[in-house]
Parts: sequence; C-alpha cells; structure tokens
Amino acid sequence: MEEKLRKLLNNSYTPYYKYPVSSIIIMKDGTTFNGVNVETSSPASGICAERNALYSAIAAGYTKGDIKEIHVMSKTEDDCWPCFICRHAISDFCDKETKIYSHTYNNRIVSHTVEELCPYPFGNDNLKETNSWKVAS
Ligand SMILES: [Zn+2]
Repeated sequence: MEEKLRKLLNNSYTPYYKYPVSSIIIMKDGTTFNGVNVETSSPASGICAERNALYSAIAAGYTKGDIKEIHVMSKTEDDCWPCFICRHAISDFCDKETKIYSHTYNNRIVSHTVEELCPYPFGNDNLKETNSWKVAS
C-alpha cells in the first residue's frame, strides 16, 4: 500500500500549497479507487485526494456502506488526516467502524475509525424531519 500511495503522489497537482496528498479507497468487494488532491487558481474549486477517490467510487456505482477502508498519504513526515470537508463526506458514505489509515512518507501508519474522527456528525438523520422542523422553545 505504501508504495502505491507514494507513486500516486506524483499525480497530485499542487502548484500553490505544494502539499501533495494521495488516497486509496478499498471497497468491501476488493475494488480500489485512487485519488489525489488537485488545486486550481481558485482555491474553492480544487478537491482533496480523499473526496476525489470517494466520488470516483460513487460515480462507479458504489454507495453508502460499500467502503472497507481509506488510506491517505502526504509527502511529509507528519500524519495526514482528512480535512473536515472530507470528514463530512466520509461520514456520509462510510460506516462508523470504517478505518482511515494515515501513512507518512517515511512509512509510519496510524489508523482511526470514522467515529473517532467524526464523533458528532451532521448527516442524513438530521435531515429526516426537514419538513416538520419545530423550533425548540
Ligand atoms: Zn479534504
């Protein structure tokens, strides 16, 4: 896995922040999806490696609960955890027990579950009663 993530870092496009990140998502059926971060001259239109890989899986027909684990690597010696926008997307499409592995460039690996990284998620459950919201008094 480390070698695949390290090689994938070369596809990252980061002319501005110069912080390459790669991600590989492994589905429960063994299929994998790759992602890298892609920056543009308008920062909000870029995408992180984790969401790039996740949305590729969704585009291929996978859905909530199909993800086995997520691997992330940056080109640094520091742990690289998903940003909070990615954590929200991961929380929407993964089980609470899904593991996320942070790989440093020099082979240190640490993992946490989605629940550990997103202890108080906002998600589908919060939107079920959208049409009957009542303001708390
Ligand atoms: Zn992100």
